[in-house]
Amino acid sequence: METLYHQGLNLVVAMLRGLENRPDFRADTSTLQRIALLANLPMETSTTEQARVAETSQFDEVVSQDALVRIPVQTRTQEPGAQTRLFEELRSKVLVCTKCPNLVAFRHSVVFGVGNPKAELMFVGEAPGADEDRQGEPFVGRAGELLTKIIQTMGYQRSEVYIANVLKCRPDIPPGVPGNRQPTPTEMETCLPYLRQQIELIQPRAMVALGATAMRGLFGRDEPMNQMRGRWHLFGSIQVMATFHPSYLLRNQALSLKRKVWEDMLQVLERLGHPISERQKNYFLAR
Ligand code: URA
Repeated sequence: METLYHQGLNLVVAMLRGLENRPDFRADTSTLQRIALLANLPMETSTTEQARVAETSQFDEVVSQDALVRIPVQTRTQEPGAQTRLFEELRSKVLVCTKCPNLVAFRHSVVFGVGNPKAELMFVGEAPGADEDRQGEPFVGRAGELLTKIIQTMGYQRSEVYIANVLKCRPDIPPGVPGNRQPTPTEMETCLPYLRQQIELIQPRAMVALGATAMRGLFGRDEPMNQMRGRWHLFGSIQVMATFHPSYLLRNQALSLKRKVWEDMLQVLERLGHPISERQKNYFLAR
């Protein structure tokens, strides 16, 4: 039976959710998530259980760049459902992260990732923008629409792949300043363990890094995109194709640029052993 305590918490959550549509109200949805977690816990175990949720997961010691090589992937060989459970545990932990106070104060939501947690292909961007922060989902703005088109043209549904960012919170900008800013190297370094754990659990057969900032976040490399794109890079044991960010394609509408990104995606399809139609081969070729 629901205790008064739980009823009270549910009331607070409902009230805060109701306020979310008010333009003058800025709610951090991760706080709502935290309260909701409390409401789901039995009273007598709540303290230890809260500590467990807030605690680092079994992957947390992993911080070095070669972690994927060194850490045996246990989840696929464990009991059925282990991968799903660990993934949800990771999500719960990331949603209440408070490592970067400036980002916590600015965000509406923590943008964990979206798609199939068992996807063979994963896309990695840099950080949520304003649209993503509002909706709590990566790549839902204009760049996201273009990414979705690219994914579909490759022959996937958006829900079949996994999409995440190096940074899970929107980088803060001063009040009144329009647009988004790039994440700093320190912000990305702080957040990278979360992406690394997502990758370890998903174990995609291939990844696509979208743009120079994502490449910098993943590999710490600061090279021009022209040199990195179209080539395979190794993140631990996972092969990563680097390509231009969809926002760059939106700013520069040249057909030759679209073709470059498309050729990168053809390489991905080929590497994953997908049949490629004549039509697909010829997209974005100059006539
Ligand atoms: N750009 C990114 O890199 N990630 C998003 O989620 C949206 C735009």
